[in-house]
Amino acid sequence: MLEVKNVTKRYGKNVACNDVSFTLEPGSLTVLLGPNGAGKSTIIKSIIGFLKYDGTITVNGMNNKSVGARKVLGYIPEMPSLYPTLTVIEHMEFIARAYKLTNYKDRINMLLERFELDDKRKKFGDELSKGMQQKLNLCLGLLPDPDIILLDEPLVGLDPHAIKELKNYIEEMRKAGKTMFISTHIIDSVDMLWDRTIIMQNGQIKANVTRAEVDQSGKSLEDLFFEVTEGIDKSSVSGEGEPEA
Ligand code: ADP
Repeated sequence: MLEVKNVTKRYGKNVACNDVSFTLEPGSLTVLLGPNGAGKSTIIKSIIGFLKYDGTITVNGMNNKSVGARKVLGYIPEMPSLYPTLTVIEHMEFIARAYKLTNYKDRINMLLERFELDDKRKKFGDELSKGMQQKLNLCLGLLPDPDIILLDEPLVGLDPHAIKELKNYIEEMRKAGKTMFISTHIIDSVDMLWDRTIIMQNGQIKANVTRAEVDQSGKSLEDLFFEVTEGIDKSSVSGEGEPEA
């Protein structure tokens, strides 16, 4: 269980996240949907412990910056940060050692094959195309196999094969009981089996709804998104306009 309580993050006068609260239930897939600049990356970076903020974030009751929390949290950043002088396989081995993984060779092979990097093992970070860097970024984040995984705009920059593979992988992780939090600004990309969607705008949560609530409303996620972000038909699904208590 991951709990975000009353998190506010300011950059100078700009409030990137304003009193944001929500819970990620174990084994659930939560989509964080919002336009560019909504505060999605800010909340994800706060959870992973990269930013200072007001409020509290706990992972299974532990402070998110504790060693115990770090062991179960995984993060796939929007922008890959690769080492230009390390090869693809060296990047993977570096992460395996950093996380003290054992018997990781098969897992490395599986990930590189699935994301079509198998023949790029000896390429250096700065020899990879942007899309290949994105795919390596994904493989590096998935390698430690964390229980809770935060994916920041994971589909951006991927080719169709990688998008399909990642969506399949997400479904598999969901079946395996992983807790997933996936941010996106592309409504059409939210076609995987999500359990909850949180819609953010201007640093605030505008809706926090389960899939069942959206289905019962008879509206599409797109309808709901425009209702809560552009103020059209304010009468419908729960949670709109207010952060979750
Ligand atoms: P999203 O991920 O939804 O696109 P962000 O969390 O990146 O949104 O940004 C939320 C707000 O915080 C935006 O107004 C953005 O300009 C601002 N912001 C993000 N990072 C920084 C930073 N390092 N310094 C100053 N402002 C920032």
